[in-house]
Amino acid sequence: MIIPQEIIRKKRDKAELSKEEIHSFTRLYAEGQIPDYQMSALAMAIVLNGMTDNETSYLLTAMMESGERMDWSALRKSRIPCVDKHSTGGVGDKTSLVILPLLVADGLAVPMVAGRGLGHTGGTVDKLEAIPGFIAQPNTEQFRSWMLTKRGTFGAQSESFVPADKKLYALRDVTATVESIPLITASIMSKKLAEDIDALVLDVKFGSGAFLQSIDSARTLARSMVNAGKIAGCRVTAALTNMDEPLGRTAGHACEVVECLDILQNGGAEDTRELSLQLAAAVAALGHRDISVNAHDVAYARMQKHLSSGRAYEVFLEIAEQQGAHLSSLERKNTEWIDSGTVDIPVTLGNQDEVTVETIDTRALGILLIEMGAGRRKKEDFIDHKVGLIGIKKVGETLEKNEPACLLRLRKNDLQTDKLRAMAASAFRTCDKERQVRPLPLICEWVK
Ligand code: URA
Repeated sequence: MIIPQEIIRKKRDKAELSKEEIHSFTRLYAEGQIPDYQMSALAMAIVLNGMTDNETSYLLTAMMESGERMDWSALRKSRIPCVDKHSTGGVGDKTSLVILPLLVADGLAVPMVAGRGLGHTGGTVDKLEAIPGFIAQPNTEQFRSWMLTKRGTFGAQSESFVPADKKLYALRDVTATVESIPLITASIMSKKLAEDIDALVLDVKFGSGAFLQSIDSARTLARSMVNAGKIAGCRVTAALTNMDEPLGRTAGHACEVVECLDILQNGGAEDTRELSLQLAAAVAALGHRDISVNAHDVAYARMQKHLSSGRAYEVFLEIAEQQGAHLSSLERKNTEWIDSGTVDIPVTLGNQDEVTVETIDTRALGILLIEMGAGRRKKEDFIDHKVGLIGIKKVGETLEKNEPACLLRLRKNDLQTDKLRAMAASAFRTCDKERQVRPLPLICEWVK
């Protein structure tokens, strides 16, 4: 039996913990035999003093082994590789809804355990719950049976799936111990590797709307996660992507689902479509073990075809129907779930002439969404799936005189309209339209 305070002391004094120490501490914490106060002390020591690659990999394995793990040997017997995509989170970040059907259409299986909104960022599980009937948190049996039938399922972390992470993450959230590369690596990668996947693409975001602001810290995190995946035998690649503006032209829940349905039907926002195609191509090449020099380009062309042929859209509808969604809603024969009871308020930026959008404080827009009811202040809060931002202008775009920078979709009876409109307006900085402002690059770097 270990002595918890001796392990905390060791980390406090910058010594390296052994595999046995990390495994025992994690197991006893998950079982409730080590209290939160000792785990928070250890987490803070890790935030301050870091972890070696070996320690990070022991922590990841210990967390992964703390609960149920998926097993897709049945799919592998039929030569179907299992893959996934994970994003570190942003505003308007909705690519999972497009990527999962693209990959299934490409002959891959995708057991996607997604997250809910965290801080100022939105989450895939919440977005899916905007769709009438959609079961975004299936139980273990439902998840398994849906995966074996349709080869793609959207799910959420349950009490029994990597419980050590579930418990530790909630503790980190309230003890200022989220921002640590080894802790984030172990947390994200323990969940992804417990999905029993062969390949993974990570979308590591940086910029004003991301958790990590600088590209250097995003690169360090990406390297740490890619390395941890490789040690565990999973083929991983990461893209460092820009979050200095919201992704796409909408941010919220129902409005983001609609934007994804538009992309799946060959329309929609150009940046979201392109990022989805790029990330899907990267993981498809890894999943199919294509190591030729032009593997990415070949996979990208296939992904474009899955969109233009309508196959990815069909796959999305099939999977959504299996997960309980009402098809009439998705086909937009019924649009009540999208905007009934709401009003769209234009956000203009004063009495301006033509101007160009120079920067967008994306985190401020994420906070605005919480204020509007689209995000949670505390874990138990309900969210309003219909409210959000639509028609968002992008950096480098010109606004005509009095043209709105975005629209606020609010409840008709919202009493805070003026305050919310002012918050939105102050997130956009503009400059003279004669000044050249380049559109932001989407993917800045790949980490392999
Ligand atoms: N998302 C996670 O799942 N874990 C972290 O530590 C940070 C983001």
